Amino acid sequence: MGECLRGKKIVKSLRSLRLLGERLRIYSTERRFKVMDRYVCTVCGYVYDPAEGDPEGGIKPGTKFEELPDDWTCPVCGAEKDQFEKE
Ligand SMILES: [Zn+2]
Repeated sequence: MGECLRGKKIVKSLRSLRLLGERLRIYSTERRFKVMDRYVCTVCGYVYDPAEGDPEGGIKPGTKFEELPDDWTCPVCGAEKDQFEKE
């Protein structure tokens, strides 16, 4: 009897560990997407991808759209930042 109960307890805690891991995985995936929003130029369709930045415009990879300088413009058509929409 005692053995059996202990076994059940172990199974139960293993299951909750797995659930916790799953929840953490989902959380970090959501966070990554939230931090790295891509923006689309509504004029020409160029996509600003923060993971890539804009090397030609002197923007380092990993720069969020919100962190781009105010005078940054679309490298393709020259549209201003307010012409961009979140993808
Ligand atoms: Zn553009």
